[in-house]
Amino acid sequence: MIAQDEQIRVTLPDGSVRQYPKGSTGLDIATQISEGLARNVLAAKVNGVIQDITRPIDTDANVQLLTWNDAEGKATFWHSSAHLLAEALESLYPGVQFGIGPAVETGFYYDVDLNGQPFSQEDFKKVEDKMIELARRKESYIRKPMSKADAIAYFEEKGDPYKLDLLEGLADGTITFYTQGNFTDLCRGPHIPNTGFIKAVKLMNVAGAYWRGNEKNKQLTRIYAVTYPKQKELDDYLFLLEEAKKRDHRKLGKELELFAFSEKVGAGLPLWLPKGTMLRERLENFLRRAQLRAGYLQVVTPHIGSKQLYVTSGHWDKYGEDSFQPIKTPDPNEEFLLKPMNCPHHCEIYKTKPRSYRDLPLRLAEFGTVYRYEQSGELHGLTRVRGFTQDDAHIFCRPDQVKDEFMKVIDLVLLVFRSLGFSDYSAQISLRDPQKEGKYIGSDELWEKAESAIIEAAAEKGLPTVTELGEAAFYGPKLDFMVRDALGRKWQLGTIQVDYNLPNRFELEYIGADNQKHRPVMIHRAPFGSMERFIAILIEQTAGNFPLWLSPDQIAILPISEKYEDYANDLFFNLQEHDIRGFVDLRDEKIGRKIRDAEVNKVPYMLIVGEKEAAEGKLSVRRKGQGDLGMMSVDDFVKAFQAEVKM
Ligand SMILES: [Zn+2]
Ligand SMILES: [Zn+2]
Repeated sequence: MIAQDEQIRVTLPDGSVRQYPKGSTGLDIATQISEGLARNVLAAKVNGVIQDITRPIDTDANVQLLTWNDAEGKATFWHSSAHLLAEALESLYPGVQFGIGPAVETGFYYDVDLNGQPFSQEDFKKVEDKMIELARRKESYIRKPMSKADAIAYFEEKGDPYKLDLLEGLADGTITFYTQGNFTDLCRGPHIPNTGFIKAVKLMNVAGAYWRGNEKNKQLTRIYAVTYPKQKELDDYLFLLEEAKKRDHRKLGKELELFAFSEKVGAGLPLWLPKGTMLRERLENFLRRAQLRAGYLQVVTPHIGSKQLYVTSGHWDKYGEDSFQPIKTPDPNEEFLLKPMNCPHHCEIYKTKPRSYRDLPLRLAEFGTVYRYEQSGELHGLTRVRGFTQDDAHIFCRPDQVKDEFMKVIDLVLLVFRSLGFSDYSAQISLRDPQKEGKYIGSDELWEKAESAIIEAAAEKGLPTVTELGEAAFYGPKLDFMVRDALGRKWQLGTIQVDYNLPNRFELEYIGADNQKHRPVMIHRAPFGSMERFIAILIEQTAGNFPLWLSPDQIAILPISEKYEDYANDLFFNLQEHDIRGFVDLRDEKIGRKIRDAEVNKVPYMLIVGEKEAAEGKLSVRRKGQGDLGMMSVDDFVKAFQAEVKM
């Protein structure tokens, strides 16, 4: 018995401290705070451990009440839904045996052994309906500690070899069962209070999965599903998923003939097709111009470097074994590596002549193609490849110039975001872990200076930031940019990184005002990250409807019949003179078909020419997404076009 007057002190996330009778539950605390919270609370995090909302709290504790809005609340909701899926399966497929049923990033799965009973997409609806039917019973998830012997006896009786296998690895005294309705599972929890919270259900996928991930074991059926506390939220999620599929850069890249992969060339090595190359070159030129204005000097370096270069840089020791292996030559003493990064080459450019403090900062930029070995299973479209081009630059500067250089790079990154329509962005400042000062290269003084330089630069530029301690590399602090795309997905883009390591390893120097030798600071930066990854994100962000200045084909001239071909060709040459790019559709097709095809290919402007246009030296303009803009003179069209490009 707990004495009435025994109290515990509960500290809530806002720092407030409240007293509750010992043995109060998360639900008691929620009820005290508000009725709304009590209705929505899913689990409680007590001193860092997530537990059922109905478990008593017996000591002073930090308590966070988790709802659907917390990632851990969602995970608890989804894992609890896996139990509901299991209950539904057991009632529909008697004798089914169960493996594991964890929450995943979105939703959950359960690995089950259906003992040869077929299961496919056609069965999804039946299972979903059963889950909803069971959920409506609002059955509580009831926790029960079990002795190992009793637990084994239960699953032997039930005949579930997978649970028995799991039990083998568990120590007596740590085992719990959870029961909701007619279904009992071996589980350490936690779970939501009852199944009634689950209002919307969708089975997503079915796949094979070996028990314990070992292909020597039996292959089970993995059923993926997702649940929500409101039907509307599920509908929104499914809509976004459909939209994401439509925008998948691998699909659009193929349809719009931007890039391709060839097994013969090799996995993860993209081939840029003419239209994709045009898009990419325009992006490169855009950045090249901006960099020229910002004082960068463009350089070009080879795709390989001697192994010794990477021994000096430290890359060989760190990544050598997991990289593309050295390239041999007829000379047995020579070995080369495909370059995994451009920095070592740029350090050698720095060293081609003595540098003085007055020469700094030196900003060397290169669209440098690099090669990194990725396992074939990790490859994904343009976002995970084995060869890619970084919009790379290295800034060699004095320690007192770090802040200024960061401000300038932030300007450049924001210019990129603005020009390409990414309005929702944020940045992460990654600093040292103050507990582990020994693991970092460079003096404390330099680190402190650089860290405060980054923090101040980000603040002065008004960047929304989060700061993460311990996320810095061993060689320097950094600033990473994240954007949210049109579908609300987060992507990591460019990065700015301070480096104290390579200048040491390459013994870079400059002569200071004091006539002494000093070591420069090196800053790595890439606003796009890589051309491949950036273009993938841009395709998904715009659904292939690129801004006019980037569109591979900006116009399609569509003659109504072959009688107007000459006029169409003249018009095309005339527009090319104004740097307007596209094509004339000379196919023997009806005009409606030509317009439809141009729309499908996401050509921004369709210029239709027939008898009237040819006679008057004009063109009829149709803008994708806006419809007919009427007939206009060539001059007026060129003016409107150029105004839109300049926006
Ligand atoms: Zn569970
Ligand atoms: Zn670098």
